[in-house]
Amino acid sequence: MQKGAVLVLSGPSGAGKSTIIQASSSEIGEYYFSISTTTRLPREGEKNGVDYFFVTKEHFEEDIKAGHFLEYAQVHGNYYGTSLVPVREALEAGKLVIFDIDVQGHRLVRAKMADIITSAFITPPTLQSLKERLNARSTDNQEIIQERLENAKEEIKAVNEYDFIIVNNTVEEATKRFVTIAKAARLKQSDKDNENFIEHWLSEK
Ligand code: 5GP
Repeated sequence: MQKGAVLVLSGPSGAGKSTIIQASSSEIGEYYFSISTTTRLPREGEKNGVDYFFVTKEHFEEDIKAGHFLEYAQVHGNYYGTSLVPVREALEAGKLVIFDIDVQGHRLVRAKMADIITSAFITPPTLQSLKERLNARSTDNQEIIQERLENAKEEIKAVNEYDFIIVNNTVEEATKRFVTIAKAARLKQSDKDNENFIEHWLSEK
């Protein structure tokens, strides 16, 4: 029985991850987008429970102690984490679970669920184009933008750890590629699927 699958998306802030996921949503079938918990402050227009669960540092640290996270990391000086329970439920319901997490989170999730993961790194074509996008978004001040650019320069080095790269030249092209990857992610066979298949294949009936 095919159960759920995981699709991890990473890439610098400003790479266009959420735009691409939204643009693909009608084509990739039913999926569950994992809403992360963070201690960073909401950007203008962001809603609690939609974009993130926004919590205090104390709250986040209590959740760590209680073992609530599948993975968590510190990015740009804030905590970000993926809650375990909703992910487990979505996987049991056979859904494709999409994570927007950083390079550290990808490593942690891959170590825990290697056989059901597909991953893609989304990036603008160059550092310069990322800079332009972050400036155009104008939701962050120069200091924050600089921090994000420095982080992106490190993250790009991890591109080799991903199954696919999506260069976001245009939203249309990147979305097309993402849709193909998401469909393939759904078809990925877990170790359990393979064991069942072999058992069935060998059975004499
Ligand atoms: P932003 O502040 O721009 O929303 O996100 C900053 C970075 O944190 C992005 O690279 C994003 O992928 C990452 N991020 C968001 N949620 C999580 C999470 O739950 N876990 C980890 N490890 N990274 C996350």
